[in-house]
Amino acid sequence: MAYDIKITKTASPKPKPDQISLGFGKIFTDHMFIMDYTEGKGWHDARIVPYAPLDLDPASAVFHYGQAIFEGLKAYRTHDGRILLFRPRKNMERINRSDERMCIPLIDIDFCVHAIKTLVSIDKDWIPTAEGTSLYIRPFIIATDPFLGVHPSHTYKFIIILSPVGAYYPQGINPVDIYVESNYVRAVKGGTGFAKAAGNYAASLKAQAEAAQKGYVQVLWLDGVERKYIEEVGAMNVFFKINGEVITPSLEGSILPGITRDSVIQLLNSWGVKVTERRISIQELYEAYEKGTFEEAFGSGTAAVISPIGELNWEGRKITINDKKIGELSQRIYDTLTGIQFGKLEDTFGWTEEIR
Ligand SMILES: *Cc1c(COP(=O)(O)O)cnc(C)c1O
Repeated sequence: MAYDIKITKTASPKPKPDQISLGFGKIFTDHMFIMDYTEGKGWHDARIVPYAPLDLDPASAVFHYGQAIFEGLKAYRTHDGRILLFRPRKNMERINRSDERMCIPLIDIDFCVHAIKTLVSIDKDWIPTAEGTSLYIRPFIIATDPFLGVHPSHTYKFIIILSPVGAYYPQGINPVDIYVESNYVRAVKGGTGFAKAAGNYAASLKAQAEAAQKGYVQVLWLDGVERKYIEEVGAMNVFFKINGEVITPSLEGSILPGITRDSVIQLLNSWGVKVTERRISIQELYEAYEKGTFEEAFGSGTAAVISPIGELNWEGRKITINDKKIGELSQRIYDTLTGIQFGKLEDTFGWTEEIR
């Protein structure tokens, strides 16, 4: 596909928001990227247009059968005014793995990275500059065939929207309390757990809502067959430090392969910290706690980077991790990753890409 994107700029730019009260995903920039897919023609009509509601047929497949995938990454403004993306190709590669699973046509990775860069560049004045803030980038694909039969759509839209977001930890990093879910499940092997499919989230809301009622911020999912092995947390992968070793559940089809997860593993390896990807049961965690060897626990994902876990509740058995304080290693990972993302630390891994 040729790298041409037709650009139509807005005639009425919106006022920029107050950087203190950005929150997450509530405010959108002046422009969006759209391209269409038609069977036989491929992806076409790549364009950047003023941000506006979509005009879709009510019969569009996405509304009925949920044929949709999404991604999430960020653009960061450095202290010296540069704009950095963090491993954007990884997100586009993951789109194609999600697409493949959901019968959505594949995208051209290089072109879509180029589309992100072009859109961010046009709306660069929307990248907030206050400490810890960033511009969240949300690419997604929806099936648009106006047809109620159940089959893969013949037409799609690939869209990218941008949202300035606040610092995830405006008051410093506070570990969160997590409810271990032993009734509902998120995904099973052979299902869509490894894909960033919209429907995975719809299916997870009920457990989330019930955990929230009990006072928990997130749920920790167990495997869908035995409710025994740990999978991941909400929209984050999960890591445990036990007796000096870091353990994270292995990717076996039901877990989302996080880019932050991969970055954490590479960092730990580079530091000579033992990190193991394997199945780990909730029982094993509780036994480590009894033995006094359960040292740290944290989630990893683009939004928070690192989210330490302060308490787990598994069938009424509550355990407190590291006195509900962020662990030393968790803090070091957080400082290093955010340091690289915001251009404060040297990027020895070549993870960042500058937008010029
Ligand atoms: C997006 C996501 C993650 C985190 O992935 P990152 O690439 O690190 O942001 C983890 N789990 C689920 C279910 C997700 O959707």
